[in-house]
Amino acid sequence: MVTIVDTLKDKARPRHPEKANNPENEIQRKPDWIRVRAPTSRGYFETRSIVKDNNLVTVCEEAGCPNIGECWDRKHASFMIMGEICTRACAFCNVITGKPNALDAQEPENVANAVRQMGLTHVVITSVDRDDLADGGARHFAEVIGAVRRVSPETTIEVLTPDFLRKDGALEIVVAAKPDVFNHNLETVASNYLTVRPGARYFHSMRLLQRVKEIDPAMFTKSGIMVGLGETRNEVLQLMDDLRSADVDFITIGQYLAPTRKHHKVMDYVTPDAFKSYETAAWSKGFLMVSATPLTRSSHHAGEDFQRLRAARAARQAEKARQP
Ligand code: SF4
Repeated sequence: MVTIVDTLKDKARPRHPEKANNPENEIQRKPDWIRVRAPTSRGYFETRSIVKDNNLVTVCEEAGCPNIGECWDRKHASFMIMGEICTRACAFCNVITGKPNALDAQEPENVANAVRQMGLTHVVITSVDRDDLADGGARHFAEVIGAVRRVSPETTIEVLTPDFLRKDGALEIVVAAKPDVFNHNLETVASNYLTVRPGARYFHSMRLLQRVKEIDPAMFTKSGIMVGLGETRNEVLQLMDDLRSADVDFITIGQYLAPTRKHHKVMDYVTPDAFKSYETAAWSKGFLMVSATPLTRSSHHAGEDFQRLRAARAARQAEKARQP
């Protein structure tokens, strides 16, 4: 993975002005198990053209995701709606921070066109935080879901939403639009929130996920965290228990990688064995689906994982029906 320089391509403005005075962390050598090759395939460049032609933003690029070569080669991209500027300033995130632009009324149709052109059977739609909007962007999410449904009714839709903190009624608007999977990432354990995700609240995010299931028990819910941010194993296990109490179906756990030297330091590279152990613990706690590897990202292999998620629920329901 290339470490991204903390300035915008064509402008002098830094991507993260709020981090300008942060001390610079040392660049650590990445262990062999998280090395990835630079993207060069034809499929990658085709996906890139479709994204650009439709004037879309992807979290794959904005987050500097290490899996971009693999995903885009397979025509799998995660669209980031409502612009490329985020109103929060999380310590781990590479998305540009600042004052966002007005919403693009054409965006729902553009996302739908890209889904059709790419022939996606499953699409992941995420967004920047839009604390500046009265509904946090919930209606725009619903419009994008509606446009994809009209143009490509067979495509299953996964949303990865912001927390809609202090946006009463926003969550309900997104759930009413009936995405197949509702994902909201916890990102890290509770004790890290003040340093890693200072604009968010752990229990609010947990409650958001729980509310989705209360409103629509059939909707799949999903959440993910990064490890390597200084958390302890017990804190991760507690977070798993909290997610299960909120009836969350699917957990993803991946290694945190610092986008620049001024972002949160990588506190440690969690070994593949430790990931395996997290995976085993998560299965034992009753999640329907678990993905825990160094390169796991919440949208990585989302289509295949959705099929497994559906199959796991069907198997569990069948098992329950067999019980006396
Ligand atoms: S893992 Fe997700 S964010 Fe990363 S390239 Fe794949 S689809 Fe994009």
